Amino acid sequence: MRRGTNDDGGVSRRNYLTGGAAALSLSMAGCMGSIGGDGGESGGSDSDGGSGSGGLLLRDGSVVSVDPDIGVLERADVYVEDGEIVEVAEGIDADGATVVDASESVVAPGFVNTHLHTWQAGVRGIAGDWTFTDYLEIMLGEVSSHYEPDDAYLGNLFGAAEQLNAGTTTILDWFHIANSPDHSDRAIDGLEDAGIRAVFTHGPPGDDGAKWWEASTEPHPDDIERLHDERFPVADDRITLAMGIRGPDYATEEVVEEDITRAREMGIPASMHIGSLGGGGVYTLEELGLLGDDLNYVHANRLADEEFALIGDSGGSVSTTPEVELQMGMGTPVLGKAADAGAVPSVGVDIVSNVSGDMFTQTRMAVGVQRGIDNRPVVERGEQTTEVSIDPHRALEIATIEGARALGLEDRVGSITPGKRADLVVIDGGDVNTLPVNNPVETVAFQAGVGNVDTVVVDGEVVKRDGSLTNDILAEERDAFEASAERVLSESGLAE
Ligand SMILES: [Zn+2]
Repeated sequence: MRRGTNDDGGVSRRNYLTGGAAALSLSMAGCMGSIGGDGGESGGSDSDGGSGSGGLLLRDGSVVSVDPDIGVLERADVYVEDGEIVEVAEGIDADGATVVDASESVVAPGFVNTHLHTWQAGVRGIAGDWTFTDYLEIMLGEVSSHYEPDDAYLGNLFGAAEQLNAGTTTILDWFHIANSPDHSDRAIDGLEDAGIRAVFTHGPPGDDGAKWWEASTEPHPDDIERLHDERFPVADDRITLAMGIRGPDYATEEVVEEDITRAREMGIPASMHIGSLGGGGVYTLEELGLLGDDLNYVHANRLADEEFALIGDSGGSVSTTPEVELQMGMGTPVLGKAADAGAVPSVGVDIVSNVSGDMFTQTRMAVGVQRGIDNRPVVERGEQTTEVSIDPHRALEIATIEGARALGLEDRVGSITPGKRADLVVIDGGDVNTLPVNNPVETVAFQAGVGNVDTVVVDGEVVKRDGSLTNDILAEERDAFEASAERVLSESGLAE
């Protein structure tokens, strides 16, 4: 079993209820992320927004570590050097470090979003009333064919920036507009320029929906071997490679077997959409002898309980994307089924063409739907609910360390643990919707939103400070991004 624990680290309520709230000051100013490179100077910090040669110190925050050995610390420092978390303790003496004052804030691990088609940032908000079959027909049958390599770059740059702005430091980027090698290279450039941690999941081209997505007889494009050998020769870089396979719902058994075999020959994980049109796909994988802990299953709404058991027993992970699944009618989100079966449970956004892009929303929807499912029998009997499932700390684990586990990155990120890479988020506890911080776990899991994300650190680099992204490239590319989106929509016949 690879499930995490419900352990909250042994921290008592008393521990974080003493003293913290009194020190908070009310900051009514909004801190919605803006695009610009000048956010590092103002307010509450004696830093310049960079990590500097002397390391980076997040000082005096309420630290929600998601590490069971560290737990929740009411007031502590997090010290980072060379991109690595070195120490988590009170009163760290770090002369020469760049200091971020976190005394009114909660410091947490960055969120891990395990399913995102990042390229769709350019077609944001066009699909709000589409069904899932509309999406397959219009997005994968039309829009995706109009993306040029630079559109892929801009979509991934801005889509990744949106994630960072919302406190998400790692994404699985499921790239299904691999229309040419240039498309893939530019998409990876976009992730690199954004400064995010990512598993670039190379999928099929978007140039012919029927050919690639309807009982496809086309094996995965050969370009993935080039990417593996030439673009990703080092396995532990900030951006790594996975294979986005069609899987049994969209390709023939021969193709499924060939694709998974090739991914395993390269030693990379494979991710597939499954169970949102119907069940049975996992039985196919079982019959072919292909189940394994290197497979990631996305949506999984209509799988049978026995299929979840097969995923769990084989050590697979499940990405539930509740907002899109509910909005588009794929079925009921499966967070509880996945966890109960022993699969690694994780949460993703999927597509901002249809739904919101932040993990606060997705995690709360996943938990809320699950509590509703769990409470339904009691409600239907006319009785009163006596307990609720998935506590806030567990919700936070699912959005962080379980997501990291789903991507095979749990030894590197997903918790504030010395020795791990420094992917951190600082949530402002002095805003009108977060004050007072009576319980920092609940502040992050159930209270805060994108507007409270003050500072974001990826691999030790400060990518957001004082509520603004620090990346100058965004301002430089903004006009090109809007022009790209306009052209793609126009050529797709979707412009107003
Ligand atoms: Zn998807």
